[in-house]
Amino acid sequence: MILWKELEKTQPIVVQTFKNAFQRDRVAHAYLLEGPQGTGKVDTAYLFVKNYFCRNLNNTEPCLECDNCKRIESRNHPDVLFIEPEGLTIKKEQIQTIQKESSFSGFESEKKVFIINQADKMSASAANSLLKFIEEPNKGTVVILITEEVHRMLDTIISRCQLLPFKPLPHSLFIQQLIEEGVPSNNARLIASLTNNLQEGTEMNEDPLFGKRKELVVQFAKEVYSGSLNAFIRISDFLEQFKEKEEVQFGIDLLTLFYKDFLYAQAEKMEKTVYVDEWDYFLRECKGIKPTVFANKITSIINAKKRIFSNVSPQAVLEQIVVDLQK
Ligand SMILES: [Zn+2]
Repeated sequence: MILWKELEKTQPIVVQTFKNAFQRDRVAHAYLLEGPQGTGKVDTAYLFVKNYFCRNLNNTEPCLECDNCKRIESRNHPDVLFIEPEGLTIKKEQIQTIQKESSFSGFESEKKVFIINQADKMSASAANSLLKFIEEPNKGTVVILITEEVHRMLDTIISRCQLLPFKPLPHSLFIQQLIEEGVPSNNARLIASLTNNLQEGTEMNEDPLFGKRKELVVQFAKEVYSGSLNAFIRISDFLEQFKEKEEVQFGIDLLTLFYKDFLYAQAEKMEKTVYVDEWDYFLRECKGIKPTVFANKITSIINAKKRIFSNVSPQAVLEQIVVDLQK
């Protein structure tokens, strides 16, 4: 159960906006909570709802013990409605339910809250119905829209809501969240350097292909680093695992991260390394080598990667990378 004082650490602007609204008794009739997945938008919406209904507010924190707080916590309050896509979209009928519900007075007060999750998935007719609804708000009714893709929403809806942008989580918190979602710690750092989307991150971890790719890149990187000619032969394995150009790019990103870890090992920053299982290897291999050597190698990988979308074949790009890195 999240509280304002906890949320304040990651989303200070959102918290301040809500606190001001409650302190000045100026709750807006429509909010739009917008930002990446995993930043606590739905939890925040429910926290707002607790504040709105709590019978025993302690300054700006809900008491969590009154009848209203408890029913909201168990998602069981008659005057709070949660809507999300049925199938692929939020349909017009779902928005009409809101309109109907709103026309009755609340069971216990004049207050009603409608939370619409993934609001960008509203069909055109649903969005138009909602627009009419928020243009003529009923007293005491609050609509909270939640989206990860605000650019997909109608400007006319956005302009009628108070927009609350959620910031991506700090890197360390994101790693912690991945671990809480079941991503092993030896994968979490690597994944967190590839995405800042929680769902994408957990899917990556569960994808058996990701494990294979990681293993292959480690093997390839070590062969390249040792100066072995096997590295050239390994390119065909690499292109087996990374077929499309976007995938080749992704594979090269994995290779870049491997070389960055040499720099972290030199600086003895184990907490920064992403291929954590290879820490001893990095420590051993980076001895006596100037940091500029690794920095130059990383630059050459990045430059080669840019050529993927020109007319050069992925095979040629990878050969160039091996040549540059083995210089
Ligand atoms: Zn309460």
